[in-house]
Amino acid sequence: MDLLIADIHLCPTRPAITEAFLGFLSEQAGEAETLYILGDLFEYWAGDDDLADPFNQTICSALSALGRRGTRVAVMHGNRDFLLGEAFARASGSTLLADPSQVSLGGVPTLLSHGDALCTDDEAYQTFRQEVRSPDWKTRFLLRPLAERKAMIEALRRQSEVAKQEKSAEIMDANETAVLESMRSAGCQRIIHGHTHRPGAHHFDLEGKPAERWVVPDWRDRAVWLRHDGAKLSFCSAPL
Ligand code: MN
Repeated sequence: MDLLIADIHLCPTRPAITEAFLGFLSEQAGEAETLYILGDLFEYWAGDDDLADPFNQTICSALSALGRRGTRVAVMHGNRDFLLGEAFARASGSTLLADPSQVSLGGVPTLLSHGDALCTDDEAYQTFRQEVRSPDWKTRFLLRPLAERKAMIEALRRQSEVAKQEKSAEIMDANETAVLESMRSAGCQRIIHGHTHRPGAHHFDLEGKPAERWVVPDWRDRAVWLRHDGAKLSFCSAPL
């Protein structure tokens, strides 16, 4: 059995979500062979030198305890926590997953992605994404003092909130052509992603064969996870 979650957006100012997440790790996740975290586990990540922060320590210890109980934890970068690095992986006992990554769920090749790279209609965002994901940008950014980085991220988040209000819902959703193209090039009939906060299970045809796209929601209203029982996928949820 494997579990998949995304977009928990953990931060100290959302104690109900933090509590639900820690509960999920100590209960449901313990039964899983692998827990896949498909990006934006954290509301933001300023760099691995922020691991000493008590909140981050609590989350890393809980992940690491889950790993010691036998569940493999695989973490993919989201658009908010793409600076999670090897020190985070060590502290949390997790493995960093590239975006996209192909895994086998019950023998079915499945493409996993955060989902922001699929939102190709949002050209302004894709330009920004390309810039901040470059090794050069990351190196320069991480050379700044931690406090300065946090202030910059806060400013960026405020800007992005304003920008989002001006963008249509369609622009911020995954682009169908981009989804199909990523599946085709990976040779997968199934994709699972998060980011858009629009939960769903879409069934369609790809290359004349049945294909599916599962979208994992955020945890704003409920704790939601996707469960693969060895044969099929289903959504499960719990109140916050
Ligand atoms: Mn996201």
